[in-house]
Amino acid sequence: MSGTDDCVFCGIVAGDIPGRIVGESDDAVAFLDANPMAPGHTLVVPRTHRARLGDLSREESAAVFELVYDLAPDIEAAVDADGATVGLNDGPAAGQEVGHVHAHVIPRFDGDGGGPIHVAAGERPDLSDAELDDIAAEISD
Ligand code: 5GP
Ligand code: ZN
Repeated sequence: MSGTDDCVFCGIVAGDIPGRIVGESDDAVAFLDANPMAPGHTLVVPRTHRARLGDLSREESAAVFELVYDLAPDIEAAVDADGATVGLNDGPAAGQEVGHVHAHVIPRFDGDGGGPIHVAAGERPDLSDAELDDIAAEISD
């Protein structure tokens, strides 16, 4: 999705599509996921349509993560959760299905049968120290 007209999350932000909004600020909105992985599963989006994390301005990024920070304890308390998994699927390769940046806050419960965020990445690569050094240098360059 490239624009706002065909974007369901833009529709929720605009109030054109019903959404159970649980928090908002000048630059970000939070609402319940319509097909939740757990009770309280919440999505936090920038008000402005942005496809990928890297498309956000510094201010929009701060607004999204600030709302996550503010709401996560309230979300957990509301459903009496034992923890939460917080993350973004950034790009189709990572499983992003709605092309408007959204952070997931998924309440977690002792013995809920889920796993850590590591399971999202598939098989763990066997990287040597030299390869790890090269990657670190590439990122920090
Ligand atoms: P993604 O795979 O893109 O990271 O996650 C998209 C999420 O959006 C899914 O968890 C899905 O249940 C949720 N979702 C899709 N359509 C709607 C909708 O119309 N309303 C709401 N509230 N959530 C939606
Ligand atoms: Zn959008």
